[in-house]
Amino acid sequence: MEEEFDCIIVGGGIAGLSAAMTLARGGAKFLLVERGEWSGAKNVSGGVLWGTDLNRLVPNYWEEEDAGWERFVNHRRLSLMDPGASFSLDFKSDHFDTPPYTGVTVLRSRFDAWLAGKVEEAIGESDHPDESFLATDILVESVIVEGGVARGIRAGGEDFRAKCVILAEGVNNLLARQVGLEKEYVPADHVAVGVKEVIRLGRETVEDRFQLRGRSGLTNEFVGAATDGIDGGGFLYTNLESLSVGLVIGMKAMRGTGRTPYDLLNEFKEHPAVADMVRGGEVVEYSAKVVSTGDIRGVPSDLTMDGLMIAGEAAHLVLNAGRAIQGMDYAMRTGILAAETAISAVASGDTSKAALAPYRQRLDESYVMQDMKAFQGAVHLLHSPHMTGALPRMACDFGREFFTVDNRPTRKATRILRDVRKKHIKLMDFMKLGAKAGRHL
Ligand SMILES: Cc1cc2nc3c(=O)[nH]c(=O)nc-3n(C[C@H](O)[C@H](O)[C@H](O)COP(=O)(O)OP(=O)(O)OC[C@H]3O[C@@H](n4cnc5c(N)ncnc54)[C@H](O)[C@@H]3O)c2cc1C
Repeated sequence: MEEEFDCIIVGGGIAGLSAAMTLARGGAKFLLVERGEWSGAKNVSGGVLWGTDLNRLVPNYWEEEDAGWERFVNHRRLSLMDPGASFSLDFKSDHFDTPPYTGVTVLRSRFDAWLAGKVEEAIGESDHPDESFLATDILVESVIVEGGVARGIRAGGEDFRAKCVILAEGVNNLLARQVGLEKEYVPADHVAVGVKEVIRLGRETVEDRFQLRGRSGLTNEFVGAATDGIDGGGFLYTNLESLSVGLVIGMKAMRGTGRTPYDLLNEFKEHPAVADMVRGGEVVEYSAKVVSTGDIRGVPSDLTMDGLMIAGEAAHLVLNAGRAIQGMDYAMRTGILAAETAISAVASGDTSKAALAPYRQRLDESYVMQDMKAFQGAVHLLHSPHMTGALPRMACDFGREFFTVDNRPTRKATRILRDVRKKHIKLMDFMKLGAKAGRHL
């Protein structure tokens, strides 16, 4: 009889590797197929991995000498920019200093490869050390569907069969489209384009310039002139020896501007606030990738079919509601949930859509769907023109006068505020913005 796996995972990114680790520990016989030469070879992310699920997958990961993460985040900054200034909300706290950290910066080519190594170790200690595999450099061409039931995959010209398939193929979800769970065309306002550079400064310079100690790190998000008023935002994260600097720009807003994301990234790096941070650095990596905007209308209404589940960004499970981009932690949690569901379904001998229904239930109960639902208003607010236009300009005009001490009479803050508001936004629009922010953030 043909060899059959309990589960096949498509994609060795964060969702896929998290599912794989869970399957290995849960006694399942599985195959993970990744098209990149190694896990992480094709992956792009800002990237801060938020939350503490990493500690579930690799307990006490911070104790490892050469773990795949860069720095834990204990200093956060949000900057509103106009072309000449930046006005920041800055928060640093020692409550962030204790493991398990709630945010660590990662470089995906290193992090994913490290996590894949941990999965290999787990396979070695599992019930199926010689029958579960991570296979790289192989593209999954299609899902085998027979009579409406997913039975496995076709990859490298061969068929591989399984009781259950987990699609963890990321945002470019061609297989989810093939099986009919994703629409053929994704609306342009449900996706953005991300561009990123890794800029090497050396460990000492990173630590001196950003006042870091040991493995502590800083995240800085930017709105306003970061994208020249075009819907989107910028980021700068500290790694051990380098910075991750980039932009996420609305695909729809980018159309017809005659500019490329790379033009905008170069301008962003020349902004006085950013130029001082990246000064003297060497660009050692450049990447660009599509990323979901967090619009819940982009999440397929069905995430399961007979014999198949979708996890991570393949299901557009990403949230950017102003506090952080959350895609990797969502991928990790949903990969774990899909694998746990697969383990129970396989054990019961039934991997039909009905048997896989607990995946959706558990997803809905998790912080992933709860936050995606609760913060949809914030997602839309963030993409409103005032957020990249009037608001940052107001903040910077306010800052310019408030923080300037010259030999002239000083105006009270309320007076300055009233005048900058008048200059940039109508009172009614300002009140509406305030009401929305109060309701949604
Ligand atoms: C510029 C940018 C900045 C971001 N910043 C952050 C951040 O700071 N924090 C955060 O949490 N998220 C961030 N994100 C989002 C985050 O990177 C993604 O949401 C996350 O990586 C999704 O993980 P995943 O495992 O679902 O998909 P991916 O990481 O995309 O992994 C999918 C994997 O599947 C493989 N694959 C695809 N198709 C096939 C196939 N047919 N056969 C075999 N293999 C296949 C791919 O090679 C890939 O390895 C950012 C994204 C971008 C673009």
